[in-house]
Amino acid sequence: MSMRELVVLGTASQAPTRQRNHNGYVLRWDDEVILFDPGEGSQRQLLHTGVTATDLTRICVTHFHGDHCLGLPGTIQRLSLDRVPRPVAVHFPAGGVEYFDRLRHASSFHETAELVVEPVTADGQRFALRAGTLEARRLRHPIETYGYRLVEPDGCRMLPEKLAAYGIAGPAVGELLRVGHLDVGGRRVTRDEVSVTRPGQRFAFVMDTGLCDGVYALAEHADLLVIESTFLESEAALAAEVGHLTAGQAARVAAESGVRTLVLTHFSQRYADARRFADEAREHFAGELVIAEDLMTVPVPPRRVASPR
Ligand SMILES: [Zn+2]
Repeated sequence: MSMRELVVLGTASQAPTRQRNHNGYVLRWDDEVILFDPGEGSQRQLLHTGVTATDLTRICVTHFHGDHCLGLPGTIQRLSLDRVPRPVAVHFPAGGVEYFDRLRHASSFHETAELVVEPVTADGQRFALRAGTLEARRLRHPIETYGYRLVEPDGCRMLPEKLAAYGIAGPAVGELLRVGHLDVGGRRVTRDEVSVTRPGQRFAFVMDTGLCDGVYALAEHADLLVIESTFLESEAALAAEVGHLTAGQAARVAAESGVRTLVLTHFSQRYADARRFADEAREHFAGELVIAEDLMTVPVPPRRVASPR
């Protein structure tokens, strides 16, 4: 069975603390392994999780504030050091290309890794992956910022008992899938009669933003939503002013968007007790709630139940 899970590298906003590394996340999604927003120390955090630089297939950066990108130099150099065997795609806001170029060549190293640099130039831009569609949406923050979501298309699951009832087997199954119908025993059988929809899964990554349309667009029906929750309600005015979310806002978005597993992270160092984030989020969100801690792993929940076509 393929593996789909989030690996948390770090959970601190702005400055690391004794308990929390700078931001950083890895999404394992079948053969895609995507590194999101590597802050300082991400290379060493990776070491603790068992994800290696050579596992990475893609890097996504939401914006060029330090806690979301200062891990790029080390990670990029590590790709070359470890002779990563395939090209690694990199996405980031196009307006920050100057920062990216500097980080990429922050110091001298023997560059062997092939980076496929594909900046995000427009709201709603999509990248076609084998695993589905990676979409970037503009967020509201003092500098150009994009969140990302990975959307797997709905599939089709054949029902063996129905196929058997019609006497369809072997290569005929493939033909039925391809063509959409098949003539057997003087009768036309359609694909919908012998299959159910296999719902595609969705992962969303929302960092550093005030509440805006992009947040909702990304969160919509996400099986797993990772979202910043820098502040608590007591700092709501400050959060709005500096372009961040509170735990309550993030939880309301999740509830209104049909999110299944909600991961709150990117906590301000001013709060010593992370349980307060859970308390505030619980007032709005009844689903699976995770207050992210460094080095934890969060599985993408099992696929939604297949529905008749
Ligand atoms: Zn920021």
